[in-house]
This record gives sequence, structure tokens and C-alpha cells, in this order.
Amino acid sequence: MGRRRLWPVRIDADNWGVTVDTAIHVAARSRAHGPTAALWHVVEMRRPAAEVDGACELTACGALARVSTEQTWPMTGTDVCPSCRTLG
Ligand SMILES: [Zn+2]
Repeated sequence: MGRRRLWPVRIDADNWGVTVDTAIHVAARSRAHGPTAALWHVVEMRRPAAEVDGACELTACGALARVSTEQTWPMTGTDVCPSCRTLG
């Protein structure tokens, strides 16, 4: 007796609904920086893609890139960020 055991408290919204926790991956195009060409990155998105089309978002590798819903992830080609290719 004595100590009351605390229930584990969930602060994530992972139980609010069936679709809340589904992240989708969308492609985002970074700008060219000097000698570095513009690359495609991946953004983990928890909002409808239509809401973020054209917006700058933080990519999986930590860069800022502009979301394009015209592209689908995973992408193929040589202008894909190597970090995002493995992360996404
Ligand atoms: Zn990247």
C-alpha cells in the first residue's frame, strides 16, 4: 500500500483516430546552393498533401525544400538527396 502507481501517460496523438498517425512521404525540391545542384528530398507529412503543395517544409535530412505533389516518393534518378533516399 502507499505508493500509487501512475498509469503511463500518452502525449502523442497516436490513439485519437484511425488515420491520425499515418504519415505520408512526399517529395520536395531544394534550391541549388552554389556548386550543389537542386535535389529532391523527402518530407514526412501528417497533413493532407494538398494543403502543403508549394510550401517550404523541413525534410527528413534537415534541409528546407519546397513540397511538390506532382512528384511521388520514393523517387528514382540521380538528383535525389542521398540522406533522404535512405531515410525515406
Ligand atoms: Zn534530403
